[in-house]
Amino acid sequence: MNSKIKILPEKLCNQIAAGEVVERPASVVKELVENSLDAGADEVTVEIDRGGKKRIVVSDNGCGMGHDDVFLCFERHATSKIRSEEDLFHLAYHGFRGEALPSIAAVSRLSVLSRSADDDCGLRLDLVGGQIKHTDEVGVPCGTTFEVKDLFFNLPARRKFLRKDDTEFGHISEIITRLALAHPSVHFKLIHNGRVILDLYRQNSSLDRIAMVLGRTIVGELLPVDSNQGQMVLSGFVARPTINRSATSAIYSFVNGRFVKDRVLHHAIMDGYRQLLMKGRYPVCVLFLQLDSEMVDVNVHPTKHEVRFHDQRTVHQFVSQSVRNVLRDSTREKATIAQMPFPSPSLDHGIANQKSRSIDCLVADRPFTEKPVAPLAHVAEHAPAYRVDTVTQQHREVVDDDLAKLPSDDKGYFESLTVIGQYQRSYILCEDGTDLVLIDQHAAHERIGFERFKKQYSSGCIAAQELLFPDIIELNIREDTELRDQQQQMERLGFELEHFGGLSWAIKTIPTFLAESDVKSMVCDVLEELTSVGDSALTQDAFDAVLITMACHGMIRANQRLDVIEMKSLLKQLDGVDFNQHCPHGRPVLQRLQRNDIEKMFRRI
Ligand code: ADP
Ligand code: MG
Repeated sequence: MNSKIKILPEKLCNQIAAGEVVERPASVVKELVENSLDAGADEVTVEIDRGGKKRIVVSDNGCGMGHDDVFLCFERHATSKIRSEEDLFHLAYHGFRGEALPSIAAVSRLSVLSRSADDDCGLRLDLVGGQIKHTDEVGVPCGTTFEVKDLFFNLPARRKFLRKDDTEFGHISEIITRLALAHPSVHFKLIHNGRVILDLYRQNSSLDRIAMVLGRTIVGELLPVDSNQGQMVLSGFVARPTINRSATSAIYSFVNGRFVKDRVLHHAIMDGYRQLLMKGRYPVCVLFLQLDSEMVDVNVHPTKHEVRFHDQRTVHQFVSQSVRNVLRDSTREKATIAQMPFPSPSLDHGIANQKSRSIDCLVADRPFTEKPVAPLAHVAEHAPAYRVDTVTQQHREVVDDDLAKLPSDDKGYFESLTVIGQYQRSYILCEDGTDLVLIDQHAAHERIGFERFKKQYSSGCIAAQELLFPDIIELNIREDTELRDQQQQMERLGFELEHFGGLSWAIKTIPTFLAESDVKSMVCDVLEELTSVGDSALTQDAFDAVLITMACHGMIRANQRLDVIEMKSLLKQLDGVDFNQHCPHGRPVLQRLQRNDIEKMFRRI
């Protein structure tokens, strides 16, 4: 009997494989440009017609190919980049599977023209659907040019799925952006329908490249990251949380020089930003993680966008901590910088006296009298820290201690503001030099409560105070069961409860910070949150939700009148906590109107 199983013809195999590697024109660009980079090129030109559906040309000044190799490169599993299993774990190149070129050739009309330094002339090959149709010797400079025309011309079903030219080109420019960020010393040129879209000259630093690719305005908001732990190094930049996006598209993360969209890495970055961004908002960052190639497997996906870390937990913790530390430092730095306003004299007018006095005393407080820090854009890319670091360090140690012990002349940023008054019983209006600063009292208080709870909780339990007359609460059966489960945890959170018979419980203590709030509803809310968090309460991230719920309670609400002393005390407390520019839900605590803006409103300038 004839067997039903057949070995597929090679042409069909290549078409099937092409489905994995070549999804759209951008995938062709990615594979070809990666090959150019692997060939050591420092000049890569990408020319696109009609979103790449009509034509894609990638030319480079890399090492080129000898005549035999020009033929060989279209064979499946033909690669010059790995030889043995051993190499698979020490990948220094983008490619290694030897399947990109045969796959691309199988679904297009392809021409290649290449010359290596050893040959006198180059070789040109024309293929249609993977079949060689024509060869020719041509005099060309060393390097390689691939031309890919009519992608999927022989697979109408796939061609139908291609999108509008602009959409396809958008994907291509994104691919070039990623590669350009990782290779600042390579000159990239991108041309669409004859128009030069990107012309990225060789740059010395990744910051210069970022400025070229992502725009100069963002650069001023970037904070340098430079940390290491064991074999791992994390470098690059994270943007201040005030700059954010509605999608993850501005998270550029690289592992050993390769762009990846990895779940673990993304989660770690988001964790670094936790409570600094509103729900549904994502950060802007360019981060390079370098680690021993034995600690990561890049061979888990044909397009290699995903990786597998051997020790996910360590990588996650390292990345999220590194990002967090930079962001924490930056809120301190910002306060310190803002403390030293150097306004332009022409705008100084009425408040000149007061201003110069405050500068004088600030300068006298400091161990040196340098000018304030330059904006980040002008700081060299390898300057990981600001020049005022030593000052900040001392400042931080003092602040982290009990606030009340602060000497009164060592004012933090918020405390140094001049309070003008309260607006709509919700916002504190202040003067910061020539700026008008508005502070959301509710957001501020929430952040203070949250940071305090967090600190107290992590060092044992939250400070509680006894109620003079225990409050009795009546629970339903579900709540009663939950409370029995969570009684110990509740105690650590500052709520001591005692069974009072039936479904009644006596509330004996509450967190000191929440003394003013409605005790009963607070207990129910916290209990509910604790239960919904469940076992994941063991992770800090999930547990934060419980602390946020607590911080929300009994906080100074909007619509609460505050007198000047209360406002000043709130500002002073704000200086004592980390991340004081945002509430734990990520809403900003502070907004600033510059004198310039105000004068413009009144058409004075
Ligand atoms: P891989 O990159 O996984 O090795 P490819 O199919 O992409 O597989 O390429 C096959 C081989 O062709 C490469 O290993 C390399 O030797 C050669 N090659 C491809 N593109 C270039 C180029 N631009 N310059 C020099 N050699 C190239
Ligand atoms: Mg390749």
